[in-house]
Amino acid sequence: MAKYINKPAILTALAVLAVVGVCIAQFGLNGHAEEREAPRRGTVPNAENPFDGARSYGYLKAICELGPRVSGSPGMSAQQEMLTQHFTKLGAKVTPQRFRYRHPQDGSAVEMANLIIEWNPEAKDRVLLCAHYDTRPYPDRDPQNPQGEFIGANDGGSGVALMMELGNLMSRLDPKLGVDFVLFDAEEFVFGPNDRYFLGSEYFARQYVAEPPAHKYRWAVLLDMVGDADLEIFQERNSLSWRESRPLIKEIWQTAARLGIDEFVDRPKYEIQDDHLRLYYTAKIPSVDVIDFDYPAWHTEADRPEACSAESLAKVGWVMHEWLKSTASQQ
Ligand SMILES: [Zn+2]
Repeated sequence: MAKYINKPAILTALAVLAVVGVCIAQFGLNGHAEEREAPRRGTVPNAENPFDGARSYGYLKAICELGPRVSGSPGMSAQQEMLTQHFTKLGAKVTPQRFRYRHPQDGSAVEMANLIIEWNPEAKDRVLLCAHYDTRPYPDRDPQNPQGEFIGANDGGSGVALMMELGNLMSRLDPKLGVDFVLFDAEEFVFGPNDRYFLGSEYFARQYVAEPPAHKYRWAVLLDMVGDADLEIFQERNSLSWRESRPLIKEIWQTAARLGIDEFVDRPKYEIQDDHLRLYYTAKIPSVDVIDFDYPAWHTEADRPEACSAESLAKVGWVMHEWLKSTASQQ
């Protein structure tokens, strides 16, 4: 994930005060942390959840074992190969949407590709589920090692791992509903403050307008940082500001409420710059960013599988699966 604007500032001040308060409460006056686990939010009856969080978390670890997946890197190529095999085996049509970009540091041509994974490709009524699958070149917010290794388990890996598991459930959905999973390259192929974000989603959105497909996407849902072990997903302010997207936000958060997943919090918090901006402004697709931005490991070396959990993936995956089922029945 790229950038965010937190507003109003007073909330930040209050949050800092709250964190200070929590630290004081946890460490007490004698300086020792209390031996207790962080409180878990509502546990859901997982027996009813067809989405296998443990398997999705296994995919997350497999993605991270490939190492950094920076656009144009060997890690990215290995990931593309793994995902193409995975989704093809499950019956999807997988097509790389290739484009080139000048490397911002040395000017060399970098080969990039969005991965388009189509379910029921003949269906004209379609929805788009998407995530970025590149990782940032460096963990530049890391306090110790900002030029170190960035693995991007949550930021870059979690959306992909969720879709890999969702792929196992796609054959159960109504075949009249077409679903495209699109994995965007180069969401954050950035080395300095002037480098451009969202190259993959920008290319995808422009192509959608320049060479319109036979279908129109009814909705687009962007999944970003959905694996945080301490899951809390507020409504994102850009998505909320778009009138066309509000019914989609309502559907998703109502689906979560119906399932008893209260990690989907029914109020706004952050304004996020992310791939959904290109989908909405360029391609005119009503879009929502489903993102948990309260993630201390963001853009640090600590963004590893240990900071994520099977349970969080299971919750977001279940909401997405249920939402796909309900949106299919609205045809
Ligand atoms: Zn990021």
